[in-house]
Amino acid sequence: MRILVTGGSRGIGRACVERFTADGHEVAFIYRSDEASARALAGLCGAVAIRADISDGVSAETAVNEALAALGGIDVLVNNAGIADFCLFQNITDEAWRRMLDTNLSGAFYVARSASKCMIANKFGRIINVGSMWGKTGAACEVHYSAAKAGLRGMTMALAKELGPSGVTVNCVEPGVIDTDMNAHLTHEDMLSLCEQTPLGRIGTPDEVADLIAFLASDKAAFITGQIIGIDGGFAV
Ligand code: NDP
Repeated sequence: MRILVTGGSRGIGRACVERFTADGHEVAFIYRSDEASARALAGLCGAVAIRADISDGVSAETAVNEALAALGGIDVLVNNAGIADFCLFQNITDEAWRRMLDTNLSGAFYVARSASKCMIANKFGRIINVGSMWGKTGAACEVHYSAAKAGLRGMTMALAKELGPSGVTVNCVEPGVIDTDMNAHLTHEDMLSLCEQTPLGRIGTPDEVADLIAFLASDKAAFITGQIIGIDGGFAV
């Protein structure tokens, strides 16, 4: 299959790129800034690296067109790129609110809108959005992040209804705490506390999330659409 992963240079996105290329798929990935890591990953696994800021509609569309040209089409889109921010509600600036929504929600919209044209024409496609358990439960000091991720839930369900007749499935995975750079700012004590709040007693790995995404992209998941699937060790139950 021809697969586009956003935010593929690090963390969960990188695990998806590695997993899909290892399984023999043709993969392009979008990254925003870390050119050295992106080039190294592309060289390592034979994927196509595309630099773009998906929070900008024109940049997102241009990147999807580059992916379409490089792969000859897109069968699977993994809308993974995202940012996090920890801030008291009263201190969230208009700019920080916009950046969060533009990246974590509008970015997924821009990329899906462009990539789904090809899927609709082919009467086949898979869109997998990467949400967060905070989109389900809400997190204090992450109101903007929680709001953006909750928005992805609605987009997933609505788009699944609209694109189902065109043979395109749309699902959302909601990771709990995963061992990536996004959590690098957390202290050892924070991590212990998060592990304690997780029924399975640990944080997750990017590979575990990539396994779920690979399943949703596979033929085995052909009858699954519009679903929000947690992968959080039971945290958000
Ligand atoms: P990382 O911070 O490790 O990686 C984020 C990736 O997104 C990078 O490749 C980054 O590119 C890219 N990116 C960020 N903003 C943009 C943008 N505007 N345009 C293009 N690319 C962008 O994150 P994770 O792997 O931890 O997270 C991946 C997804 O999973 C996110 O949506 C996140 O919200 C979600 N998630 C993560 C959890 C966790 O505990 N880690 C928990 C729940 C959900 P670059 O490196 O070039 O800047």
